[in-house]
Amino acid sequence: MHLASRMSLLGTETAFEALARAKALEAEGRDIIFLGIGEPDFDTPEHIVASAKSALDTGYTHYVPSAGITEVRKAIAADASRRYARDIPWENIIVTPGGKPIMFFTILALIEEGDEVLYPNPGFPIYESMIRFAGGTPVPMQLHERLGYNPDLEEVQGQVNSRTKLIIVNSPNNPCGSVIPEIDLQKISMLAKDVGAAVLSDEIYKDFYYDGTHSSITEYPGMWDRTIVLDGLSKSYAMTGWRVGFGIFPDFLVEPVTRLVTNSVSCTAAFSQIASVSAIESSQQSVRQMVAEFKERRDLLVEGLNSITGITCPMPKGAFYAFPNITGTGYTSEEFERNILTETGISLLSGTSFGEYGEGYVRISFANSQEKIREALKRLKEFLVN
Ligand code: PLP
Repeated sequence: MHLASRMSLLGTETAFEALARAKALEAEGRDIIFLGIGEPDFDTPEHIVASAKSALDTGYTHYVPSAGITEVRKAIAADASRRYARDIPWENIIVTPGGKPIMFFTILALIEEGDEVLYPNPGFPIYESMIRFAGGTPVPMQLHERLGYNPDLEEVQGQVNSRTKLIIVNSPNNPCGSVIPEIDLQKISMLAKDVGAAVLSDEIYKDFYYDGTHSSITEYPGMWDRTIVLDGLSKSYAMTGWRVGFGIFPDFLVEPVTRLVTNSVSCTAAFSQIASVSAIESSQQSVRQMVAEFKERRDLLVEGLNSITGITCPMPKGAFYAFPNITGTGYTSEEFERNILTETGISLLSGTSFGEYGEGYVRISFANSQEKIREALKRLKEFLVN
């Protein structure tokens, strides 16, 4: 039997493979410290779980409209209207099983053979995978360590042209923890408008800031008409397994993307959607507590990494990842990932899991306890001095 040739274009997210390797070692009895996967280690807050249980008891166990339950879309729109200080109609919200399908559907709806798409590199690996799968040409927008892991706007200007159909931005960024300065967001918005490109603004880490507050490319003139905001509940409310994400779409994409939802997943689980209303409308204290704890872990991790010979680590401003430069250790990124796992039991990810410009770096998630982070730093230090 033959696979369709398009399957050779589809990449993957190696974080899941790295997790499987680490879990296999744990099953053999090794003491593994998990700093690889990108999800909060906290439990979903109790009031959200209670709301899902009551939704199950009251019959939210059936199909619901593809774009989402109206009440849920309204709750998301009200929250987004407050955050963006703008009236966002609930009809422009589409709820999906996690934030990831928003990438898939946006790219499928917009990109044709030969269209160019700028995407952050290092960046979330599914962007490049989906661009290729849709027949587009991925154009890597390199994030430079010297610019705080941000793109060089002169370089970007040289990459944008009449074939550019979409520009993807992700701030705060996975894997670098960087935040795009407002002036750069404004310049990118101008470049997109100049060539008539759409923008996919992945804002899934919007609640994870350690200095400053969230800025969105949608703030610049004319951007709501051409921007798709990708967001969701996975990270902010420790709900990765619930699969609730959403997009805020310009009018022209609402019907086509809803059709893609109907054709693929039909709808998002009804009880997960109902619980999301409770997440969004209740006190945000659990989010604040989680971010405060992540800040302490970040400080601990970055200080510790910078005290290890061969490693230098800039301070991440957002998300929950550190992206240290490991070139001074003499290992390539993949060697580092492999050796560190087998020799010290620490699971982390090679920077190249996030694109070719990730060479020389690794991603370390600080979604683990301070105790585990201290132990990981001790093991790393011991291993690298020997
Ligand atoms: N966007 C970025 C940058 C991410 O890091 C992730 C998850 O790791 C997602 C989107 C997708 O999140 P979800 O679990 O809601 O599909």
